[in-house]
Parts: sequence; structure tokens; C-alpha cells
Amino acid sequence: METRAGNNFLHAIIKEDLEMGRVSEVVTRFPPEPNGYLHVGHAKSICLNFGLAETFGGRCNLRFDDTNPEKESQEFIDSIQEDVRWLGYEWAEEVRFASRYFQQFYEWAEYLVVQGKAYVCDLNAEQAREHRGTLTEPGRNSPYRERSPEENLDLLRRMKAGEFPDGSRVLRAKIDMASPNMNLRDPILYRIRTAVHHQTGSEWVIYPTYDFAHGQEDAIEGVTHSICTLEFEDHRPLYDWFIEHLPVPSRPRQYEFGRLNLNYTVTSKRKLKQLVDEGVVSGWDDPRMPTIAGMRRRGFTPASVRKFCEMIGVTRSDGVVDVAMLEHAIRDDLNTNAPRAMCVLKPLRLVLTNLPEGHREDLAAAAHPSRPELGERSLPFTRELLIDTEDFREEANKKYKRLVLGKRVRLRSAYVVEAESVEKDEAGNILAVHARVIPDTLGEDPADGVKPKGVIHWVSATEGRQATVRLYDRLFSDPAPDRGDRDFMDCLNPDSLRVVEGAWIEPGLAAAEPEQGFQFEREGYFVADRYDHSPEAPVFNLTIGLRDTWEG
Ligand code: ATP
Ligand code: MG
Repeated sequence: METRAGNNFLHAIIKEDLEMGRVSEVVTRFPPEPNGYLHVGHAKSICLNFGLAETFGGRCNLRFDDTNPEKESQEFIDSIQEDVRWLGYEWAEEVRFASRYFQQFYEWAEYLVVQGKAYVCDLNAEQAREHRGTLTEPGRNSPYRERSPEENLDLLRRMKAGEFPDGSRVLRAKIDMASPNMNLRDPILYRIRTAVHHQTGSEWVIYPTYDFAHGQEDAIEGVTHSICTLEFEDHRPLYDWFIEHLPVPSRPRQYEFGRLNLNYTVTSKRKLKQLVDEGVVSGWDDPRMPTIAGMRRRGFTPASVRKFCEMIGVTRSDGVVDVAMLEHAIRDDLNTNAPRAMCVLKPLRLVLTNLPEGHREDLAAAAHPSRPELGERSLPFTRELLIDTEDFREEANKKYKRLVLGKRVRLRSAYVVEAESVEKDEAGNILAVHARVIPDTLGEDPADGVKPKGVIHWVSATEGRQATVRLYDRLFSDPAPDRGDRDFMDCLNPDSLRVVEGAWIEPGLAAAEPEQGFQFEREGYFVADRYDHSPEAPVFNLTIGLRDTWEG
């Protein structure tokens, strides 16, 4: 799990901080808000924060930034921990919660009040907006700005005691209403919100804002490098202001990097939640979702997601990454590691007329063409087989390298066969193909010199097993479903899921472990569904096709 230095400017910064003795141990953190499942963008942040700590022998905390009780839940807290672990990372000591520091934050709020650096403001939301000014015009001081520290302390304590209704007052820092940086125009530190919190219950009716909480959380935990996405760059002066004006135990520094944006993908938690709530997908872990749980169920491996994060690198600019790169990462991993197997998606009976009824021969096939250490599998070869409907034609030109009436084809890891006749129903549909096995062609060309043109896959009709196969495609058919002027729901790909109930698999596949990945020869990479697969009712999900059909 090495983080490459070349494409990661933070690597260089930390290296220098250590060399110059500015820090003795690197401490980073991954600070999700537990208001949704983690997505591929979070994976980038996880790999970065945990990866840097790992590279430099430091530690990385997992901290829930749980300052917004209404939207948060235990389900999200659990899923986030599971996802981080699945990616292969372990946080230092126990999980942290911003809510564990609420008392400390509150004491620091009183401290600022006493220092004359914070005040209780009674402006309503509309008035506050009006006083705030714009990017081109300075703001105006609130009429409550000059309240005395004594009055402010009294009001703050009464806010905390629940004496005032939600939204009636806020605590603000007293910084500079004329600052060109809007974040410094007396930002809000506390809001009144009578909400039950998943960790602290009804202990608090005032909650700190992200800005007031975040830097102090870092300081409490001794975080040295507080890494966040670029939209927080303008918040850094405020982050520093708090660290400077509060008696915090350490002085973390904030660094920003460009967030991950993927084409054909949305990664806003709000939008992902909408997909779940409106039933467009089956849940946060639907295999089409860009969530870590979704990618996992789709058949991505932790190594492939980490590899992708390494490939995209870490820069100080925002850009859009081609989702084909993510697909490449998993395809590459599975090409190297996934055992091969055979599955027929659209079965057509192939009767081998020169074999006796009840014939069965167990053929050995390599699990992987270039990795003998993965062993062999046993393929029962019987008189009746199933091949894919697409792999047979009564007539065809020379470009068609599959089975044609009167011609030969090799059955993968088995014999060469020659098609002799077809069996049709009254409507003329082909019900079965009759063929004969060319003797002595196991791993050998036919003795008569008439070589087959192609190789097709097959499954024993009598020993194989029926399976459900879910064919997934990208959830959006538009490269930019997230573009401002449109509704991302209008960009959905209507064919993102096709369920094949009557697929046939080689018998050994029924015993696949949930989450085990395979290459179904000539079809693509598939995974046994994490929840629905069982030996009695096998279910496989398409992870990714063999080739990128989108690049053309
Ligand atoms: P979203 O925008 O999807 O709602 P968020 O930023 O609100 O995400 P948080 O739970 O606050 O979600 O994020 C936790 C960490 O993950 C933060 O440090 C954030 O910067 C980082 N992060 C979130 N989205 C991305 C992304 N697309 N690329 C890189 N890092 C991200
Ligand atoms: Mg956030």
C-alpha cells in the first residue's frame, strides 16, 4: 500500500516537515459526517489520509464529524467503519466523535466571549444575510455586536439551558465584517437546535458549526496535517484564527487538495440519497452506486480501488476523471487474479450424437491461463451441452469464427465438434444443434487436418447449474449528469440493469463464496453476490466487461 510520491504534493510537504523537525509524528484524520454511505470520492480521501500516515509511520484517526444531528444515523456510522476497513485501513485507537468534544467546544466558546471575541446575535436569518454584504461590498456590523462580555455570557448560558427557541439567537465570532473573505465576517459558532443527537441524546440544544468544530477537533487529537478538499481553502484563515485565539493543545495546519469528480457519475451524498429514496436503485449498496459498499457488491476489490486512487494522484486542482480509468483498475486486477469459469447466458442445446446416453467425462481445465498455482477445475463433459445462442448460425461468412452448420469449432478446454443438423419447432426456431465430437482432439488438432476456426464456451446441460446473472451498466448515460443546468435524474441509463434468470454455469461455480470474483470466459468479470448468492440459488453480478465498449 505504498503511496507514490511523484503524484502527491502532500507527500513532499510532510517529508519536509519531518526532516525539518516541524513535526515528530504525522497524524492525519478522515472526518466523515455520518449522513450517508461513503463514495468513491471519500475513497480518495481515505487512501490519502491513511496512506500518508502509513507511509510516514504515523497514525490516522477515523473521526465522525457529527455536529448535524438531524441528518445523521447509526446505520451510517456502522457502514463507514465497515467501508474503511474493507479498503484495508485501520484507524489509530478507538473511533472518534466530534460530539465527544462538545463540552470542550462550549468552554472555548465561553472563553471567546470572555475575551470579547464572540457575541450573541439576535438578527434573524434574513437580517443576517442583509448585514453580511456581498463579495464586492463589505458587510455591516450587527447591532448586537457591542454587547458586553457579561451580557453575552449570560445569553450564551441561557441558550445552552434551552431558554430560547430554535433559530432565535446565534453565537458569532467577532472578527471583521469588512473582510474580503466572507468566512471572516463574524461567522456563526453556535446555533440553537432542539434535536436529539444519536450520541449525546438531548443533552445539548446548541450545536457548533462545522467551522467552529473542525479545527478544534484536529487540535484536540493532535492532528498535524488536516487535509480537506479545495472548497475549504477560503475557510483556512478562519481555521487559523480559532487555533490562534483559543488555548488549544496543538496547532494543526490545514491543506487542501482537489476533490475527485468522475464522469458518468454523481458523488453528492444528497443526490445519492435521492436515488435510494426514490427507488431508482435497490439501496446505498446497489452495484450501480459509486458508493464503496456498491463497488464492493459490484465486485471491485479493495486493491483495485486503492490502485485507482493512486493512479489519479493528488493535486491542487479540480478536474474530471474518466470513469473508464476506474473500470480499467478493476479489469486489470481481475484479469490477473480472477479464476476463469464458464457461464452460458443465452443457452442453446448442443447434442453430441456420437456419444452414448449418460456419457460423462471429467475434463481438467486451468483456473487461470498464466497462473498454474491457482490450480485446476473439473469440467464434466456430457452428451448434452449448452452453448450460447449467439455462438451458432446455420450459415455464416468467414468472419464468424463460431459454430456453423457443417463446420467445426473448439469447445473451450474440451474437444472439437462439427455441427451436423438443427432441430426446430414449427415456427422455425432452433431448439437444438446436433453435432459430433471429433475424436482425439483434446488439446490436439483434428487428425484429418480440418482445423476449427474458433473457440466457444459451454456448460454441461445435465451437470451444469442454473443461475441468475445481473448485467449491470453505468447508471447514467450522460457524461455529465451533475452539470448545473439539468436534473441528474433525467440522465439515467434505462438499461443499467438487465437480469438474466436462465443462465447456466459450470457446476463448480455454485460453490463460489459470496464476493468471489471470476472471469466468465468470453463474457466478462463477474462476482457472486454478497447477499443473494447461495449454492442452491447462485447469483452473479457483472463487475465489468472484458473490453471497454464505451471508448469505442
Ligand atoms: P458530499 O459532498 O458527497 O456530500 P462531504 O464532503 O459532505 O461529501 P464528508 O462526510 O464531509 O462528506 O466528507 C469526509 C471527507 O471526505 C472530507 O474530508 C471530504 O473532503 C472528503 N471528500 C468528500 N467528497 C470527496 C471527493 N469527491 N473527493 C475527495 N474527497 C472527498
Ligand atoms: Mg462535508
